[in-house]
Amino acid sequence: PSTRPLLRVDGLQGWYGQSHVLHGVSFEVGEGEVVTLLGRNGAGKTTTLKAIMGILSRRSGSVTYDGRETIKLPSRLIAQMGIAYCPEERAIFSSLSVEENLMLPPQVRPGGLTVEQIFELFPNLKERLSSQGTKLSGGEQQMLAIGRILRTGAKLLLLDEPTEGLAPVIVQQIGRTIARLKEEGFTIVLVEQNFHFAALVADRHYVVEQGRVIDTIPNHELDANIDKLHAYLGV
Ligand code: ATP
Repeated sequence: PSTRPLLRVDGLQGWYGQSHVLHGVSFEVGEGEVVTLLGRNGAGKTTTLKAIMGILSRRSGSVTYDGRETIKLPSRLIAQMGIAYCPEERAIFSSLSVEENLMLPPQVRPGGLTVEQIFELFPNLKERLSSQGTKLSGGEQQMLAIGRILRTGAKLLLLDEPTEGLAPVIVQQIGRTIARLKEEGFTIVLVEQNFHFAALVADRHYVVEQGRVIDTIPNHELDANIDKLHAYLGV
């Protein structure tokens, strides 16, 4: 990374019960950087985010955040250190309004955004203030899911496939949002299948295959590596 490393993952292993899924994931993210984890379905990208967040019960190796080892900490303490996770399934409460959904996560550390500040980042959401979760479009739900974690005060955002299933124009909007969050100083790890989108927002890409990071590609070298990337992703 070109900046001070905020997150360093080294030899991360992870299991679901007896099933050994992560076999030594290693990568780094500097403060204020956006990096992606690219890879096929089942490569271990989501599991990597869950392991960093501490919600994968069995894990080993090393994850340091801001210089502190977190591998043995419970997710509650990891959240308090300033890491937040936005799952692929978004987990919007359908019977609650936009505003109520935003109020749900507690502010776990100082510096969390207020609902007003979140609406500044996502003006569309403000117009939908009192709409129920079920009435939102896929794109609005994704904005809400990202907006909601900003309340916690997290500085490192783990975003799992925010563009999944969204129309191209909405994907562009999410791209602008991520660029804005980067400008505001957030550090982001993004799981992506869509590398055209990844190329627009990220500083660097890590290719995940069978529970390991097998390649690192700086964004400015993405074009030169496009054939290799097609092969990795099987597209
Ligand atoms: P996707 O885009 O499909 O989510 P991914 O790279 O994020 O892909 P993971 O979801 O991390 O992949 O899955 C890695 C492996 O772990 C896969 O073989 C998957 O079948 C397995 N796996 C995922 N979740 C569970 C679970 N809850 N219990 C058991 N195995 C799981």
